[in-house]
Amino acid sequence: MYFDVLIVGAGLAGSVSARDLAEKGKKVLVIEQHKHIGGHCHDYKNNAGITVHTYGPHIFHTIHKEVWDYVNRFTEFRYFQHRVLSYANGQLIPFPINRDTINKVYGTSISTNDVNDFLAKEVKRSKFNNPPRNFRDAVVSQVGETLYEMFFKNYTIKQWERDPEELSAEVARRIPVRENRDDRYFSDQYQGIPIPGYTAMVEQILNHENISLMLGADYFKIKDDFKAGLTIYTGELDRFFNYKYGKLEYRSLDLVFKTIDKEWYQEVSVVNYPNDYDWTRITEYKHLSGEESPKTTISFEYPKATGEPFYVVMTKENMEAREKYMKEVETLEQKKSHIFIGRLAEYKYYNMDQVIKSTLEKIRPVK
Ligand SMILES: Cc1cc2nc3c(=O)[nH]c(=O)nc-3n(C[C@H](O)[C@H](O)[C@H](O)COP(=O)(O)OP(=O)(O)OC[C@H]3O[C@@H](n4cnc5c(N)ncnc54)[C@H](O)[C@@H]3O)c2cc1C
Repeated sequence: MYFDVLIVGAGLAGSVSARDLAEKGKKVLVIEQHKHIGGHCHDYKNNAGITVHTYGPHIFHTIHKEVWDYVNRFTEFRYFQHRVLSYANGQLIPFPINRDTINKVYGTSISTNDVNDFLAKEVKRSKFNNPPRNFRDAVVSQVGETLYEMFFKNYTIKQWERDPEELSAEVARRIPVRENRDDRYFSDQYQGIPIPGYTAMVEQILNHENISLMLGADYFKIKDDFKAGLTIYTGELDRFFNYKYGKLEYRSLDLVFKTIDKEWYQEVSVVNYPNDYDWTRITEYKHLSGEESPKTTISFEYPKATGEPFYVVMTKENMEAREKYMKEVETLEQKKSHIFIGRLAEYKYYNMDQVIKSTLEKIRPVK
C-alpha cells in the first residue's frame, strides 16, 4: 500500500510531522508500536478519576512563542507554575537552589544581593577541575561542594547508577540557580498543563482527514507491507541500523502508582529524594491537573537500566557511537528518503517544546 509519507511513532515528533504534512495535502500513515498515542507524554484518567502521566510528570514550558502558539491551536492550558521541594537532612527544601534554599541549608539570612558572593565563596573553598571535566566538576564549579553533596551527588548516583565523575559535564552545563526567592522550577515565559491532558492534545494534532493511524504495530515487522515517498523515523536510532555500531544505552524507570484515601499527600507536585529511600522522586498528580477529589494519586520513580527507553546516557562511548549513526542518518536525509527526528531517533535529550520546535523546523521546508 502506498502513502506519501510514512511516520514511525505517534509521540510529539511523529504527530507534529504528520499534521504539518497532512495540511500540505500529503497522505500520511502513522505507525505506533504502543496501543496509545502521545509517546512519552501520554496521560490517562485512572480509576479514581485522576489524570496521571504514564511515563512520569510532564510540565509544558517554553520560551518560544511560536511553540506556545502552536500547542494552543490544539488545546487549552491550565496556567501552572511548577515547584519542586527536595527532602534533605529531614527537611523539605526549595529546589532549584535559590536564596531560601541557601538560608535553610546554612541557617543564614542572606539577602538577594549576597547570593552570588555567598556561592562564589563556597566554590572558592571547594576542590574541582577547572574547566570542568565531568558532572561533579560542573556542579561544584557553580554551587560548591556542600550543595553538590546535599542535592546532586546521590540523586545522580540513583538516577544514573554511575559515579558523577564518569558523567559528562554537559549534563550539568548550566544548573538553574536563582539569586532571588523565585522557587519556580522553570523560569520560562510560557508554562502550563493541557486541561484535557496531553493525550487529548496529541489526538487533536493527529485529527486530520489526511492522517491514518495504526496502533500496536512495530514498524520493523510491517515495513514491507507499505511503500512511501518519505519515511519519518522517530524510533530508536540504533535499532534502525540494526545496532551496527553497538547498542546505545538508556536509563529507564519503574513508576509505581498509589491512590490514597486522603485529599493531599504532599505540598507540591514533585518532591525529590536525593539521599533517602530508593526512589528519586514522588509526584502528586492533582497538583498538575487541578482536579478535585477526596482521593489522591502519587507515583514513586525507581530508576533502572532496562525497559522502556527514558533518558539518553551521555557517556563518551555512547556519544561516539551516536556520531557514527548520525553520519548514516545524514546520508539518508541527503537522499531525501528519510528524516530522523525526536529524542529516540536523534539520541538526544529534548523537552517537549524543543521536540516541537525542531520538528517544525525540519518538516516545514518539506514540499
Ligand atoms: C520521566 C520524564 C519526564 C519528562 N518530563 C518532561 C517535562 O516535564 N517537560 C518537558 O517538556 N519534557 C519532559 N520530558 C521529555 C518528553 O517526554 C519528550 O521531549 C517527548 O515526549 C519526546 O517526544 P518524541 O516524539 O521525540 O519521542 P517519544 O515520545 O518517545 O515518541 C516516539 C514514539 O515512537 C514509537 N516507536 C518507537 N519505535 C517504534 C517502532 N519500531 N514502531 C512503531 N513505533 C515506534 C514509540 O513507541 C513512541 O511512542 C520528560 C521525559 C521523561 C522520560
